[in-house]
Amino acid sequence: MSNFDEFCCICRRLESDTVKLIHVGPNMCVCNDCMERSMNMLQNDPQLANLFSGMNGFQIPPENMEASQGNLFDIDENKEEPEKKEEGEPKLGPKDKNIFEIPRFINFSFGMPTPPNAQKVKKKTEKKEKEPFDPKKVKAPHEIKAELDKYVVGQERAKKLISVAVYNHYKRTMGSAVNDDVELEKSNILMLGPTGSGKTFIVKTLAKLLNVPLAIADATSLTEAGYIGDDVESVLSKLLSEAGNDVEKAENGIVFIDEIDKIAKKDVTRSRDVSGESVQQGLLKLLEGSIVEVPVGATSKNAMTPMTSINTQNILFICGGAFPDLEKIVRNRLQKKNSMGFFSELNDVYEEDNNILMKATADDIRQFGMIPEFIGRLPIICPLESMNKEMLVRVLKEPKNAILKQYKKLFEMDEVELVFDDEALEAIAEKALEKNTGARALRACLEEYMFDIMYEIPKDKSIGKVTITREYIEGKGTPGIELRMN
Ligand code: ADP
Repeated sequence: MSNFDEFCCICRRLESDTVKLIHVGPNMCVCNDCMERSMNMLQNDPQLANLFSGMNGFQIPPENMEASQGNLFDIDENKEEPEKKEEGEPKLGPKDKNIFEIPRFINFSFGMPTPPNAQKVKKKTEKKEKEPFDPKKVKAPHEIKAELDKYVVGQERAKKLISVAVYNHYKRTMGSAVNDDVELEKSNILMLGPTGSGKTFIVKTLAKLLNVPLAIADATSLTEAGYIGDDVESVLSKLLSEAGNDVEKAENGIVFIDEIDKIAKKDVTRSRDVSGESVQQGLLKLLEGSIVEVPVGATSKNAMTPMTSINTQNILFICGGAFPDLEKIVRNRLQKKNSMGFFSELNDVYEEDNNILMKATADDIRQFGMIPEFIGRLPIICPLESMNKEMLVRVLKEPKNAILKQYKKLFEMDEVELVFDDEALEAIAEKALEKNTGARALRACLEEYMFDIMYEIPKDKSIGKVTITREYIEGKGTPGIELRMN
């Protein structure tokens, strides 16, 4: 069987694009639609049919000579189907047959060159579908956390909070089917943490583990309906498209709205706050659970886009942001509280605390500029620690898909062993810390140092081992090189 995808020689659609092809000659196929159209054209126009039969290269094999004297497109009804039809496929009546069958005496392959392999499209290999998400099969919180541990370093409290929240969320979706007076309220999550601390990464990992669709939206691109920018409903359109336009799948998905701190209420506004407080207001109805009309296949509504309704009741909303000025608010509150009595001298402790966001309360967030109704709909506040040197070193080597493991694998393909000294890892972490972008800076930092090595090593086949040292990272030396024994 050929590895190349066959295609219709008239409309050029591929067989893999769910087009049924009919073989009309060696290396030549026509799809049902084109065949039907051609047949109709020829049948309705006897002159055209005559013309066709007179074409140069149009051959009528001698055994079909007799048939050609009759109706050009008559089909022998008693003849057996050449291809076995799949079970369950509706049987075609004799009238339908001439849609799919071609007169056997027509040789379509005249004058048609066979395209070279370079112009053919390789058949797509079918991906194995993961098991669809079933809320009843959601793992217990400790199991969810254990899975997250394989990918996410540190952030113990955040991982625990999220695991419990997700478990309860999907339990609640099942509880809504139980008919009693107790209605479990929706509990969306608010993640607070500096940039590069793993907010998006945790959510992405979670969606992958649960096998639910995930839409990531940026709050800064959202505006009040009717203004330039995306309406809040656009986040649901994204989710729908991530779910392959399957509404049921989308209704069990996760929406992550990043940079949520950027839509805080502005203190002094002379004009209408279309991208701040109004967006918070707009998001309220999505967060609490309601039926929303969303455009399918587009992010904005217009007369040309079809609409569908999505119930947001079971969608888990996670909002995330760095909340930079929130630290000041929390610090002030704590210092005020401690300025009385014996503890007043402890105030300096808060000044040096890098993880002051861990102590943030809903009240602090309200003071930051989020409206109380909005905070009320995100009852789970999940703060993340800022990355320190130790955590960055662990991010480099521990996760399942750690950056170091990836580089080692690349070198292994060239049969070269790559080793990083512990000191070297610390030096890389120190460099990344200077950039103030958390774990985000790690890859760029490492790439900078590995670039030269990856260029030089494949040149010399005798090299068997490369050791990255602190001296090399600090630009004071070269990496350790060992030659192959044999
Ligand atoms: P943000 O908090 O700004 O959303 P991201 O989640 O986008 O940060 O993190 C950027 C990258 O840093 C991720 O793609 C991931 O590879 C890495 N990363 C961040 N935090 C962690 C962590 N705790 N454990 C492992 N990798 C992490």
